[in-house]
Amino acid sequence: MNYIYFDNAATTKLDDEVFKEMMPYFINEYGNASSIYKLGRNSRNAVETAREKIAEAINAEPREIYFTSGGTESDNTAIRGIAYNYKKKGNHIITSKIEHPAVLQTCKQLEKEGFEVTYIDVDEYGIIDLESLKKSIKETTILISIMFANNEIGTIQPIKEIGKIAKENNIYFHTDSVQAVGSIKIDVKEMNIDSLSMSAHKFYGPKGIGALYVKKGINFQKFMNGGHQEKNKRAGTENVPAIVGMGKAIEIAYKDLEKHTKHIKELRDYYIREVQDKIPYVKINGDIDKRLPGNSNISFRFIEGEGLLLNLDLKGICASSGSACTSRFT
Ligand code: PLP
Repeated sequence: MNYIYFDNAATTKLDDEVFKEMMPYFINEYGNASSIYKLGRNSRNAVETAREKIAEAINAEPREIYFTSGGTESDNTAIRGIAYNYKKKGNHIITSKIEHPAVLQTCKQLEKEGFEVTYIDVDEYGIIDLESLKKSIKETTILISIMFANNEIGTIQPIKEIGKIAKENNIYFHTDSVQAVGSIKIDVKEMNIDSLSMSAHKFYGPKGIGALYVKKGINFQKFMNGGHQEKNKRAGTENVPAIVGMGKAIEIAYKDLEKHTKHIKELRDYYIREVQDKIPYVKINGDIDKRLPGNSNISFRFIEGEGLLLNLDLKGICASSGSACTSRFT
């Protein structure tokens, strides 16, 4: 069956060029990146080249990039790692109510361990209110964790402004950028981002590989014990083919970003217009402008989400309804 795939927020198809780049590291270049002989050094070089590409994409330095197993691990590592490391300074964390479970569940766990977490609201378009962010800051606040772009309604948060607020108040700023990396231009320096999560399978790279950016000078407690890989912060033999794939995928994503974004936006807007013209009682959720170029989130009044998705599936159309709280009529 030929699928019509409408669910790139869930995952993307591996790019053919990315796959080609990965292939040698599955077959002939199988050395452990920590081994000192040539086969190992080849793997090490491939890992470091990928690290450079990832750093360049977000205007970071290669030494600020740590490879992980994906967005979930990056979020866990950053939030827990910073919280544990700086708990003498304070125990208060600010996040939003619309974060991915990788952030929300991590915060819930930290609450059980004695941290205090404030979950700030978003407005009817899914955007953080900067005033309530400012108001929720306390003497004890050590970390703000706000996602760059939402995985369901696609709204993009005012990251630069949040970064500024965090910096002015001497608070670390983490952003879950899993949905944004590869779709939006990101500059960690200009945006005052202290740590950032990304995941390759959201930008046509392989699954099970991600990266965490942590600004130099910021310490975080590692949560896996073992070898000295990743500057002693993330133990475990590097997944070289996946790392190579991630490097290639991010390079492709940012090479023609503007052209690609324009094309995707045109397709998305055409789709939304057609739905609005042809189907009664629809509502577009989220902010029309401040949203990911490829995202549309639509409510169909009187139609039950699951039934709609099952019928689309029978026609080979892959789509998701997201969670009920973000796709309902307001
Ligand atoms: N954060 C966001 C916003 C996501 O959309 C996802 C994946 O859907 C994740 C985190 C988790 O990423 P991964 O699937 O790589 O663990």
